[in-house]
Amino acid sequence: MNAFEALGLNEQLVKAVTDLGFEKPSEIQEKAIPVLLSGTTDFIGLAQTGTGKTAAFGLPLIQLIDGAQRHPQALIVCPTRELCLQITNDLEKFTKHTKGVYTEAVYGGASIMMQIRNLKRGVHIIIATPGRFWDLYKKGTIITKQIKYFVIDEADRMMDMGFMPQVNQILEIVPRKRQNMLFSATMPDHVKKLSEDFLEFPMEVEVTPQSTPAE
Ligand code: AMP
Repeated sequence: MNAFEALGLNEQLVKAVTDLGFEKPSEIQEKAIPVLLSGTTDFIGLAQTGTGKTAAFGLPLIQLIDGAQRHPQALIVCPTRELCLQITNDLEKFTKHTKGVYTEAVYGGASIMMQIRNLKRGVHIIIATPGRFWDLYKKGTIITKQIKYFVIDEADRMMDMGFMPQVNQILEIVPRKRQNMLFSATMPDHVKKLSEDFLEFPMEVEVTPQSTPAE
């Protein structure tokens, strides 16, 4: 059996990662994927870029999405436009063989009209920087009522860049019953406090940069 299949991923996702040349799961993927596929357990991943963390949360999210329901079910917040585009790009590659799961990157410094148009078509996964998220939410373009999965990526950078008030506000407008995932390269006290505030009985996994697939 393929090692990704053994973690519980479906055939379409296994095919997508095989196309990308992934031979075996990285450490964070091995530990996170089976837990996140439950759709209910909260998760903290202490992992830097390069560890394969995007696939660790992205692959289970894609499998959990109900494509027939054309509204946002997963929200990923991240600190920068670059990271937002990188995550979106990765998720699009992972959905190569999964029909009918749509993603949209929402970030500042780009045409808001284009993002509005794409959101109106109906998307399942939104990858957003906090400022542009709020602009679109206030316009009524992003509906959060059906969000079931919430991810904070690079939580330490989010906090360093002063995004926490906006993230806390986002947490107030997504349904209470949801699966939360927090990824961070480091775990200073303020990130620990954030994780205690919004994660419930999370599974915590720490991986060292040496275990990166990219290396
Ligand atoms: P990330 O930590 O998510 O930024 O991923 C770092 C890089 O590793 C990206 O270019 C991924 O495409 C690649 N990658 C992720 N998982 C694997 C894997 N299991 N095998 C090989 N490469 C991978």
